[in-house]
Amino acid sequence: MEDSSAATVIVGGGLAGLACAAALVERGKPVTLLESRPRLGGRASSFEDQQSQTLIDNCQHVSMGCCHEFNRFCQTVGIADSFERAEQLFFIGPDRTGSRFKINRFAASPLLPTPLHLFPAFARLSYLSFCEKRELAHGLKQLARTRVNPEDEPTMADWLKAHGQSQTVIDRFWNVVLVSALSEDLERISLSHARKVFVDGFLRARNSWQVLIPTTPLEQLYGTTISNWLIHRGAEIRLKTGVKQIQISDGQVTGIELRDGTQLDADRVVLAVPHQRVLDLLPAEFPGCAELSRIEQLEAAPITSVHLWFDREITPLPHAVFVDCLSQWMFNRTQLMQQEPDGRWYYQIVISASHQLTAAGRQGRSQDEIIQDVISELTRIWPATTEAQLLHSRMLTEHHAVFSVQPGVDQLRPAQRTQVGGLYLAGDWTSTGWPATMEGAVRSGLLAAEAVLDDLGQPESLLLPPEKTAFLSKMLFRL
Ligand SMILES: Cc1cc2nc3c(=O)[nH]c(=O)nc-3n(C[C@H](O)[C@H](O)[C@H](O)COP(=O)(O)OP(=O)(O)OC[C@H]3O[C@@H](n4cnc5c(N)ncnc54)[C@H](O)[C@@H]3O)c2cc1C
Repeated sequence: MEDSSAATVIVGGGLAGLACAAALVERGKPVTLLESRPRLGGRASSFEDQQSQTLIDNCQHVSMGCCHEFNRFCQTVGIADSFERAEQLFFIGPDRTGSRFKINRFAASPLLPTPLHLFPAFARLSYLSFCEKRELAHGLKQLARTRVNPEDEPTMADWLKAHGQSQTVIDRFWNVVLVSALSEDLERISLSHARKVFVDGFLRARNSWQVLIPTTPLEQLYGTTISNWLIHRGAEIRLKTGVKQIQISDGQVTGIELRDGTQLDADRVVLAVPHQRVLDLLPAEFPGCAELSRIEQLEAAPITSVHLWFDREITPLPHAVFVDCLSQWMFNRTQLMQQEPDGRWYYQIVISASHQLTAAGRQGRSQDEIIQDVISELTRIWPATTEAQLLHSRMLTEHHAVFSVQPGVDQLRPAQRTQVGGLYLAGDWTSTGWPATMEGAVRSGLLAAEAVLDDLGQPESLLLPPEKTAFLSKMLFRL
């Protein structure tokens, strides 16, 4: 029997577990972190692609200016410099015939106050007509002013139809922004989560819409660098250490059984594993079991990434958003990683809410056929792609990438403090008010750390105060 009872044991080395560990060690609290896989980072990690011999991310992960806790966490652990802040985005949309594409540069006006600073960029979007832009502006204003009852809310698709948004505006604007932000279809996205994207991401503060893109593989960010940071501050990190069961007696955590049979004494455990794993790690009965079992109703949404290596550059753009296409985002990884091309140009295409691309959803179509569809789209946008030779490709679909932000989902998400003494929960799926994002994961870790500190008799508020809303946003949208 090993004694870990002085330390808080964190099970799961994804961003939630890492943020919790960082907050505790910063306050001098001993931490033992157990991770079943051979690396940290959880869903935000990388692996070695054998054929290209490159460390590639399971999928491109981006953050936004409004992700304050995640961005502060990156600063704390010393990885903030490994992100490029995109102060302009490139929306590539079709013309009326759908046969030609135009690149629309989207950037804030330095002369206008928030939130009007984004107005010229919206007004310039070439793939929406004047009337469609007017319709969109009206829809955005109504959405921002809507007060949502989370216990009885519609899907975003229903709300858009009820508020007179045409199919073109839905396909070319709402779908483009919301599906990639929330990784779910409009038919399943709840009104409250959709509203949050626009209010927090575009309307509340000046730089909240900017996108932060890692310039190194995720493994180096969340694996090596954070691991070293934590170890340097006294944390014990055990990789390849799967937990089999949390032991609970008389409503209090007493220990942990590892998959290899080892017993650990522990009286404080933060369970920071994906929601699908939680109940398997707990006994059949424990205080609050019925309430926690509601997480079984959380549904998952998939994300697909298509990795392409060409023998030449197909576009010098660092990233781009595709409008009304199968492909949603393009990341020029060779350029973003500031690498010399070594004869290969590496691009990654991200397709969120890729229900139609899962093995069950693609109705017999092979991965190669889907990769060809993606390349055909790239060729229509950048005709030079025809001349480029595809050296290698890879398609990955994460079936349980995120939980599905359907109406009512927040009622299924538990708080970080449980009814079991010494048992805390963390993970993007716990109650944070955020969708499944790195921001949500970090927030959950901080909230779990708050609960631990509280029980150790050192209460402290770890979350930043809510961001101030710009004056004009308050006036225009009653935020
Ligand atoms: C393809 C894809 C693309 C995404 N893109 C973005 C994006 O662009 N921006 C964004 O903000 N978010 C994105 N996300 C979401 C983001 O990755 C997650 O919200 C976040 O990483 C979740 O962190 P977590 O710590 O809550 O969970 P996880 O990352 O799932 O971590 C849980 C950890 O627990 C470990 N574990 C499980 N069982 C055990 C056990 N029995 N014992 C020990 N350890 C165990 C797992 O191995 C894992 O490391 C994306 C996710 C995916 C999959």
